[in-house]
Amino acid sequence: MSANLIDGKQAAKEIRIGLRKEVAALKEKGVAPGLAVILAGSDPASQIYVANKEKACEKVGIASQTIRMPETVTQAELLAEIERLNTDPAIHGILLQLPIYKHLNEREALLAIRPEKDVDGFHPINAGKLFLGEKAPVACTPAGCMELLRRAGVPLSGKRAVVIGRSNIVGKPMSMLLLAANCTVTMCHSRTVDLPSVTREADILVAAIGRPRFVTADMVKEGAAVIDVGINRLEDGSICGDVDYDAVAGKAGWITPVPGGVGPMTIAMLLVNTVEAAKAALNA
Ligand code: NDP
Repeated sequence: MSANLIDGKQAAKEIRIGLRKEVAALKEKGVAPGLAVILAGSDPASQIYVANKEKACEKVGIASQTIRMPETVTQAELLAEIERLNTDPAIHGILLQLPIYKHLNEREALLAIRPEKDVDGFHPINAGKLFLGEKAPVACTPAGCMELLRRAGVPLSGKRAVVIGRSNIVGKPMSMLLLAANCTVTMCHSRTVDLPSVTREADILVAAIGRPRFVTADMVKEGAAVIDVGINRLEDGSICGDVDYDAVAGKAGWITPVPGGVGPMTIAMLLVNTVEAAKAALNA
């Protein structure tokens, strides 16, 4: 069989179209959604991510501002900036672009962001709410994966889901979201014994590992939905996912490509979280 391609680029575009209308409606009610991105690091990839976020905000009418902090910034200055944004009523979402400079304390900075403005869903309060099944901003990448599954019409309730990877930003929240959707969830990691025998049970298989083409066709159940979160840069400069796409596409029922699958959804969900935060501020 040949898998249905889950097109993240198209889904992200549709989400932006919907958001544009929501943003216009909010503006009519006197609330202009605002996102602040703090760039306090020198990772070259961060510059690209931040520029992409600015562009995406512009497309839907969200007012975005990027606060670029020099390498000499102190922890106190970073915290003071976060606090200024916490109390700025024009800012509904605050995002600290990671990684930050090594001399800064990332955990303390993330904790300083008000949970209701934490559009990345990384604050322990929001991670805890996800764990408890309460409404809260959810980390953008796993939220994007769920949105792709829903849009593709993949049955979830009662199905076996396997997540490879247990990071705080992808694997763990992904598992919680699948559980909330009534999947029977198994979390796998580098110590999992006989991984292929576990993944072959999966009706929904999520790969968030960071190893090029790690998931091979023999690890996949016929007809499964395969969500590839991985972004791996190869020596020739090209990008590939954690799934051996060509081989797995011949066996899976649904599959996300890399690029053009989960990647575009991450920014789309950031916009969704920002608009949701603005709506919450309006109703507060
Ligand atoms: P981490 O490095 O934080 O986590 C990787 C996970 O994979 C760990 O839990 C690790 O297990 C597990 N793992 C590593 N090797 C194996 C193995 N041989 N068998 C089974 N499990 C293994 O990565 P992230 O979660 O941050 O990211 C994962 C991938 O997703 C990366 O390629 C990243 O670039 C991409 N990514 C993509 C995003 C997007 O927008 N599309 C956003 C965020 C990430 P253990 O815990 O035991 O070490």
